[in-house]
Amino acid sequence: MVKVRIAPSPTGFLHVGTARTALYNFLFARNGGGKFILRIEDTDIERSSDEMVNVIIESLKWMGLHWDEGPYFQSERRDIYVEYADKLLQAGLVYPCYCTKEEIEERKRVTEKKKKKKGWKYDRRCLHLTREEKKQFERERASALRFRVERASSFEDFLHGKIERSKEDIEDFVIIKSDGMATYNFACVLDDHLMGITHVIRGEDHIPNTHKQILLYEAFGWMPPEFVHLPLILGPDRSKLSKRHGAVSVLEYRDRGFLPEAFVNFLALLGWSPGGDREIMSLDEIIGLFSLERVGKRGAVFDTKKLEWMNGEYIKKMSDGELLRRLSPFIENKPGIEEKGDEYILRVIALLKERMTLLSQFWELGSYFFIPPEQYDIESFTKYVKKGRAETRKERIEKVINAFKELKKFDRDMAENCVRGVAEGMGIKAALIIHPIRFALTGKTGGPGLFEIMEILGRDECIKRLEYFVENILPQLNIKN
Ligand code: GLU
Repeated sequence: MVKVRIAPSPTGFLHVGTARTALYNFLFARNGGGKFILRIEDTDIERSSDEMVNVIIESLKWMGLHWDEGPYFQSERRDIYVEYADKLLQAGLVYPCYCTKEEIEERKRVTEKKKKKKGWKYDRRCLHLTREEKKQFERERASALRFRVERASSFEDFLHGKIERSKEDIEDFVIIKSDGMATYNFACVLDDHLMGITHVIRGEDHIPNTHKQILLYEAFGWMPPEFVHLPLILGPDRSKLSKRHGAVSVLEYRDRGFLPEAFVNFLALLGWSPGGDREIMSLDEIIGLFSLERVGKRGAVFDTKKLEWMNGEYIKKMSDGELLRRLSPFIENKPGIEEKGDEYILRVIALLKERMTLLSQFWELGSYFFIPPEQYDIESFTKYVKKGRAETRKERIEKVINAFKELKKFDRDMAENCVRGVAEGMGIKAALIIHPIRFALTGKTGGPGLFEIMEILGRDECIKRLEYFVENILPQLNIKN
């Protein structure tokens, strides 16, 4: 049975690269009826934190990637690692190393300077210590354990085929640090083996680690799992995606108003394709279609524009009720929301959803449905006026106000008839007053249909805003036409 894992280190938030790796593992497991486990690789005690563990868990849950086992914590498995390290020590495959980080760095610096090239590897100083020297160090220092690399490493990668590395290119790597904790490479191999992992699907940047891990599998006489090294996610300049390209943390995407469905759909397509030009797919559809054979070998560019487009498509497809639920964290503390109530918000949603690509845009686009405009986009409006598309005469707006006051009932058709009637009566094009009215009601020059906006705002609110505009804003505008 397929058993895969995602093994994030809680030294930072969940990066989109790790999120994609998690997704591919999840898809592979679900497609084949296998298991997906979560393992927290917190061997670097100083750099790991509970807060980041929570962020990782929250990110995976937000994406809907539910795991079948775990989370396992490597920090709780120390004894297991020590026990297995001891076996290698007994077999003479590892040796104690007393060098401090500073000593190693200094030797590396000096050698690289002398040879004028980078690429120093551990010089095996501690492998050649005399019994006396060892004894002396033993009294003074804590020791790490280093694995003795005596052979080349080679493995068959699912995507890349055979990958080899000569023994000269692999240093004697540490398996247990001087603080007694296992290193990533050692803990990873033990856990993958003991947890019965069948496929290790992870980023291509781990290939150098895999070479070391292969040597450990061989040392224990264990069958390694199948390795699948995914191509990296790239920024628009085709370098590895990083902070300087924009947001890289999953929760940042959530907070910016992306829907998890869209985010997951987008990530799935970063390196995999179901064939044809299908793009919008539910998680269940993706699970059904997913196969490692259709994962590409080349890095995929993270195209934020495409993600935004996709998000917009998901928003359009979503029911208004569901959208209301998803919008809640973005609007719950905004003024007017509570007073207006769900029914009112749903009417606004129906009007705005075609225009939104992010949940966070709801408030930007439609705050005027809840509170009078806080700001008026005078610059855009002035342009309209200068192009002769709007005019600013007070009397004309006042005519509309008076006409509204006469109305007993108010809906979009009545509002429209009324405004057009006023324009006709004055012998001008309706657009000339529609623009200033829109500007007065919303503070903006664009948006959904004016009469739909009016219907939602209601007659009295429209009158109030128009009166305020005529009294307070219009005199400040100072535009002639
Ligand atoms: N802890 C490693 C990381 O976060 C896991 C790599 C692996 O999947 O083995 O990159």
